[in-house]
Amino acid sequence: MFKISPFKLTMYETCPQQYKFTYVDYIADEYKTPKPYLTMGAHVHNSLKDFYEQVAPADRTFEVLEQLLRKRWKENRQGFRNADDEREWGLKALQMLKLYVLKNDVTKNPVMLENYYDMEITEDIKVLGRIDRVDQDAEGLHVIDYKTGKFDPDEVSDDQLAIYAMIIHANQTIPVYKASYLYLATNQLYSIDISEDLYEPITEELIEKVEKIRVDRQYLPRISERCKHCDFIEICPKSTEAKTYLEQRRYVSVHP
Ligand code: SF4
Repeated sequence: MFKISPFKLTMYETCPQQYKFTYVDYIADEYKTPKPYLTMGAHVHNSLKDFYEQVAPADRTFEVLEQLLRKRWKENRQGFRNADDEREWGLKALQMLKLYVLKNDVTKNPVMLENYYDMEITEDIKVLGRIDRVDQDAEGLHVIDYKTGKFDPDEVSDDQLAIYAMIIHANQTIPVYKASYLYLATNQLYSIDISEDLYEPITEELIEKVEKIRVDRQYLPRISERCKHCDFIEICPKSTEAKTYLEQRRYVSVHP
């Protein structure tokens, strides 16, 4: 069974070589370095999950959420340069959660929370997705993916949202009518309307993409901004070019 997820797909499409290191050679654990934004992002996601699972609607205040974040934070403090850096990331997380409580109706219970869901699209292809939250509105289900990074119009993926909706559709009887990214730093919602006729073309597209991955024997490195956070830059066949590219980008951003 070939397992694919929006995350894996994006990785393959952005850099097939990075995909190979991760999902063909399985060497990610050897090269993985903790990243502050990933640690912070995981804590924000987990504390929001705890907030809905552990706290009664009437008690959902920012102060309670802050305590949940602090508890989660103690479990993993990897990736920060020093105490000041950790504090800065912590403050960012707190600001996001404060805005979240302020701008959203937190008394409403989601129908599904942070979990992995999957669906088989053919006999040997399974699509998996980690869904952050699903709300039930009068129109149907609303699938929500939290983002702790900045909104970047080049990075939003309607296809990814449609895949999440399709996975939920396969696991629920109520139809999905909307799928959104919720950018927590600004409480900005990027949404697409969902209807069932989206699922067939999305499935066909997924099958095509999986076939392309399956026959790929080259996994060409593709240099981009992604190299900045890539754990494999030292062993990448285009290591020198990737570093030169990043140096040039840094020069341009310092000397606009
Ligand atoms: S350094 Fe860049 S080109 Fe090389 S594997 Fe990583 S993302 Fe791909």
